[in-house]
Amino acid sequence: MTQTHSLVDVDVEEKDVACRTHAGELIRFYCEPCGACICVVCAFQQPHHDHDVSTFSEAISKHRHALDGLLGRCRDRAEQLRTHLELTARWAVNIRTAEQQVYMYNYTGIQSWDAWVRGQHGRGHSYSMGNI
Ligand SMILES: [Zn+2]
Ligand SMILES: [Zn+2]
Repeated sequence: MTQTHSLVDVDVEEKDVACRTHAGELIRFYCEPCGACICVVCAFQQPHHDHDVSTFSEAISKHRHALDGLLGRCRDRAEQLRTHLELTARWAVNIRTAEQQVYMYNYTGIQSWDAWVRGQHGRGHSYSMGNI
């Protein structure tokens, strides 16, 4: 074992899984036709003794392409989700801007209405400095 394993290697190889059939034997091989993880005893017994059996590291390097493909698809999916999130965030900002515009419109509307009321109310009374 080298120290330059990818995450995939570490995940699989660091597990010392005992064989279900042979207690005390660790799973060290992968039977291609069965798609099963087997121990050294299994590899020499029925039904695997004439099967195409590879060691775990062989199996991993053989299947790494498929694993990488899967990981790549996951990354693509994550990227898509991120784009969606960014779009959603942008929409949220747009909605907030629109809300602010509506609020400002109402606010200025009320202000001018207020000013108009004050203007109406103030008519006839003089609050200006000039008349004091
Ligand atoms: Zn076994
Ligand atoms: Zn087999």
